Amino acid sequence: MDYSWKEIHERLGGNPESHKDEYVCIDCVEDDGLRGFIEREACVAPCMFCDAESPNLIAASLIEVLLYINECLGVISQ
Ligand SMILES: [Zn+2]
Repeated sequence: MDYSWKEIHERLGGNPESHKDEYVCIDCVEDDGLRGFIEREACVAPCMFCDAESPNLIAASLIEVLLYINECLGVISQ
């Protein structure tokens, strides 16, 4: 996690802490960039969207994924 909770709040709004134990796996995203990000950040956790569980690294923190999307949108809008 490269951000403090304060920064995460500023970037994502809402109540990001409520997602801190949530993970998303590669199969649940279609974007190649996001898949690559999840592969890099993956840890052993069940996916909360499809309930996939694996001894392999398949899922990344939902907050990290949201921050990554947020960064990408920031790059595009600059
Ligand atoms: Zn999944």
